[in-house]
Amino acid sequence: MKKHKDLIALLRHNQQRITPARRFLLQFFIDNPAKRLSLPEIQAHLQDKLPGINRSSIYRNLEMLKQLSVIQELGVPGQGKRYQFVFEQQVHHFIICKACGKVVKGNRNLFEKVEKALKEIHDFQKANLSVTFYGFCSKCQAVEAG
Ligand SMILES: [Zn+2]
Repeated sequence: MKKHKDLIALLRHNQQRITPARRFLLQFFIDNPAKRLSLPEIQAHLQDKLPGINRSSIYRNLEMLKQLSVIQELGVPGQGKRYQFVFEQQVHHFIICKACGKVVKGNRNLFEKVEKALKEIHDFQKANLSVTFYGFCSKCQAVEAG
């Protein structure tokens, strides 16, 4: 339950109200840290817990969690919007293939190079890297070339 408590503290710190919907939403992400959840999955879960909750309130809560870097929104080709839990992860950038929709979590090595370039080019540091790179994975590059 530590994560849940930490997240509640983060919301409070940012003057956000703690509502039952927010508690269920946070717990759902905590329970599915490796999953990229779709809006219908999130809606189904919350409507099961809180019958009558409306879509726009779910959407507003997701926007708030995005602002606080608790989750990251990913646009996955062929699958639409997905939400990934990224809380307490210093590096959260994703590499997405435009052809097959494969999503890969970016590694530390890339983060360090980007961090260095940010400092050199923009004199910008301690960035929280929430980036999505779109391109073609090695498998799809081979298809294109062949
Ligand atoms: Zn691909």
